[in-house]
Amino acid sequence: MPARQILFADAPVLRQKARRVRKYDAALRELVADMLETMHAANGVGLAAPQVGVSLRLFVIEIPADEEAGIPARQYVLCNPEIVKAVGEETEEEGCLSLPGYVGEVTRAAVVTVKGFDVNGKAVRVRGEGLLARALQHELDHLDGILFIDRLESLDKLRRVDQAAEEAPVG
Ligand SMILES: [Zn+2]
Repeated sequence: MPARQILFADAPVLRQKARRVRKYDAALRELVADMLETMHAANGVGLAAPQVGVSLRLFVIEIPADEEAGIPARQYVLCNPEIVKAVGEETEEEGCLSLPGYVGEVTRAAVVTVKGFDVNGKAVRVRGEGLLARALQHELDHLDGILFIDRLESLDKLRRVDQAAEEAPVG
């Protein structure tokens, strides 16, 4: 059993602007630990607090290791994140743990720099390209009540996928 239940896309909390994190305390650390466990159990690359029913500006991301390139897995916890720089444009398929079984092509910035705070309230800055850039923007959208389907040209562009057979959705 994962630590928390991931809400489906029709949950009202997923359509709200989440509240700022104000207290970096034990409860926040417990929430982050639960979110990481829940994300791992769902094979996701990212998970935002509203997806587990908590209206806070917080998300976790874990980019899997690239064994061939010798790059270890990279984990990020970001509270009160803000995009400070966005460059280029890239269109790729992505999915969402709150909308299992569907993917769609979304155009996003190719490289983004995001600033925020870690679980202890220490200022951090993350620059991401590729999957990390996409995940940062997807999770940030969740904090503003936006789902990836809102960014599709049309809902006809949604593609049904067999979750067991496909690569992990973004989150
Ligand atoms: Zn999502």
